Amino acid sequence: MSELRWHPLLGEWVATATDRQDRTFLPPPDFCPLCPTKPGGFPTEILELDYDIVVFENRFPSLSPHPPDPAVEGSDLYPVRPSFGECEVVVYTPNHSSTLAREPVEQIYKLVQVWTDRYRELSALELVDYVFIFENKGEAIGVTLHHPHGQIYAYPFVPPRILRELEQSKKHWDDTGNCLLCSILRQEGTDGRRIVAENASFLAYIPFFARYPYELHVTAKRHVLDLTDFDERERMDLASVLKQVLVSFDGLFDISFPYMMVLHQAPSNGENYDFYHFHIEFYPPLRTANKLKYLAGSETGAGMFINDTLAEEKAAELRLHVEPVAWRES
Ligand SMILES: [Zn+2]
Ligand SMILES: [Zn+2]
Ligand SMILES: [Zn+2]
Repeated sequence: MSELRWHPLLGEWVATATDRQDRTFLPPPDFCPLCPTKPGGFPTEILELDYDIVVFENRFPSLSPHPPDPAVEGSDLYPVRPSFGECEVVVYTPNHSSTLAREPVEQIYKLVQVWTDRYRELSALELVDYVFIFENKGEAIGVTLHHPHGQIYAYPFVPPRILRELEQSKKHWDDTGNCLLCSILRQEGTDGRRIVAENASFLAYIPFFARYPYELHVTAKRHVLDLTDFDERERMDLASVLKQVLVSFDGLFDISFPYMMVLHQAPSNGENYDFYHFHIEFYPPLRTANKLKYLAGSETGAGMFINDTLAEEKAAELRLHVEPVAWRES
C-alpha cells in the first residue's frame, strides 16, 4: 500500500509506504542482502558471486514504476495520486565492511561514472521530473544496512527543497545577472577561511550560512547544470575531492563519520535551468564525537536552524585532516 498524499499546509507531497516497515534491519554480516552471493550460500539481492558496483531496484520502494492505485480516496482538500517513480540502490563495493571513505579514489571515480549513467537514463524518462542521488550513512541517520551503498530516487515532480533553491537562484540571476552558486564560489574562494579542500575543478567548503556544524558543500568551479556536463578531468577531480572530504570527516573524531550526502542538480522536466549549478551537500548529524545535532522545535517546527558553532572554526578542524589523493598508475 502506497500513495502520495497532498500536504495542503506546506503545498507538497508526502509518500506513504507501509511495506517499508518489513524491510531488513541491521542483519548480521552473513545475511547481508548487498553482499555477493556465496557459493552454496543463501541468495542475496545480488545473485553474482562477485561484482564491482551494482545498481538494482529497491525491494522496499517508496516510489515505483508501476504503482498501485491509491488505497484511499482523495478529495479537493486532500488530493492523492499514485506513487510513481523509481527507487534504486547503488552498492559501492562488494566489500561488506568498507565505506566510501575507505575505498580507493579509483572506485569513487567509477561511482561518479555510475551516477552519471543513471542520471542520464532516469532523467530521460517521460514521467520523471527530478533525479535525486544521495547516501545515508551510519546508524545515527537511521541506516538499516551497513554494507556501503547509496540510493537514487526518480520523482514525478521537483521536490520542495530543490524548488526553494531554484527560486532563490532564479531571483539572484534576475537581480544581478549572475548565477547564485557562482557568486557563492567567488565569495568563499576570496575569503578562504571556510575552504576545506580544493582542486582545479571543485571547491569544498563549509558555507558561511551552514545550518549543521559540519555541513559541507562541494561545488563545481565551472558553471555546469548536472553530472552529464562534466568532462573526464572533472569526473576525476570530483572523485579526488570527495575522497579528501570523506577522509577528513573520518579523521575528525577518528570514527567512521555519519552523514547524509545529496547531489543537487538541474531538474529533468524539460524546462530551462541555466541559472542553476551542480553541487553536493553533506549534512553530518554530529556536533562532537558523541553528541548529535538534534532537529528540535525551532528547526522542525519553524524551519529556523540554530548552529552553535562557527563555520570558520569547523573548516579549520577539517582542513587538518585533508590528505593528498594518490591515484594508482595506470
Ligand atoms: Zn554486505
Ligand atoms: Zn554557476
Ligand atoms: Zn543545494
